[in-house]
Amino acid sequence: MATILDGKALAAKCKERVKQEAASLKRTPGLAVIIVGDNPASRVYVNSKRKDCEECGFFSEEYALPESTTQVELIALIEKLNAREEIDGILCQLPLPEAIDEEAVLMAISPEKDVDGFHPMNMGALLVGKEGFLPCTPYGIMEILAEYGIDPKGKHCVVIGRSNIVGKPMALLLLQKHGTVTVCHSRTTNLKEICLQADILVAAVGKVDMVTADMVKPGAVVIDVAMNRNAAGKLCGDVDYPAVSALASAITPVPGGVGPMTRAMLMQNTLLAAQKHQR
Ligand code: NAP
Repeated sequence: MATILDGKALAAKCKERVKQEAASLKRTPGLAVIIVGDNPASRVYVNSKRKDCEECGFFSEEYALPESTTQVELIALIEKLNAREEIDGILCQLPLPEAIDEEAVLMAISPEKDVDGFHPMNMGALLVGKEGFLPCTPYGIMEILAEYGIDPKGKHCVVIGRSNIVGKPMALLLLQKHGTVTVCHSRTTNLKEICLQADILVAAVGKVDMVTADMVKPGAVVIDVAMNRNAAGKLCGDVDYPAVSALASAITPVPGGVGPMTRAMLMQNTLLAAQKHQR
């Protein structure tokens, strides 16, 4: 039976460390969270971010804007927040309403306050191995691997998914740690064969039972990023957990794996931003 990679417990530890470090700063770290419209999933995420800030002793400001907000109005708000000294991090909850150009909004956030790590400056820093904010989900996964002593060095790491926020940065971080990385996507023709070669398999697609036991090498480490609902409405990932956990050496559960670490890394990035701003 696989070791369960307990992201929830690790996240609690990380947040406790963040809280202690934040307490030694001259000024309380501040995070501004913007939500546009009334997407229920986004509302849940924003509420949990507020709770995380409270736990870490940060101050947070929430801007809940109506669906009718224009791009100009949204960017004007971001520019105001960029200019405020007590705001260390700015996060704009995605997805945004269709009429708003997501890329333009993400570009408007100052790279020094881009605690989500989505600004091209931070993405570029990751690409060339320079310091910057790491996207929270792949950052959290690297922390899980480190916590459990799983070293990607020399391992074949297969990432399913190539989004800018998960798949691509995940591949880069594994490469930085000397993994041999293969990235798969919707046009990959021999997905099963490639997955079967993986020592570390990261699934970030968003499809229930995308990864079945016949795609996993016995002893592989399996990281399930996705957050799906199955036919019964229960939260689940991409991986057929009961079957795959019987042959993997380690696996992240859903819920309780990658999700809590994503949230913890947002707090970590906000702390980092505050430390830099107070230098
Ligand atoms: P996304 O932007 O929709 O990307 C999905 C990726 O999966 C794309 O690269 C797509 O390929 C690929 N894909 C789709 N069908 C495939 C198939 N049949 N075979 C192989 N690859 C396939 O999603 P995302 O934002 O990266 O998120 C992925 C999942 O992670 C979602 O379930 C999301 O909810 C979850 N997520 C969880 C957390 C967390 O904290 N736990 C954070 C972020 C996201 P193409 O590029 O070719 O279209």
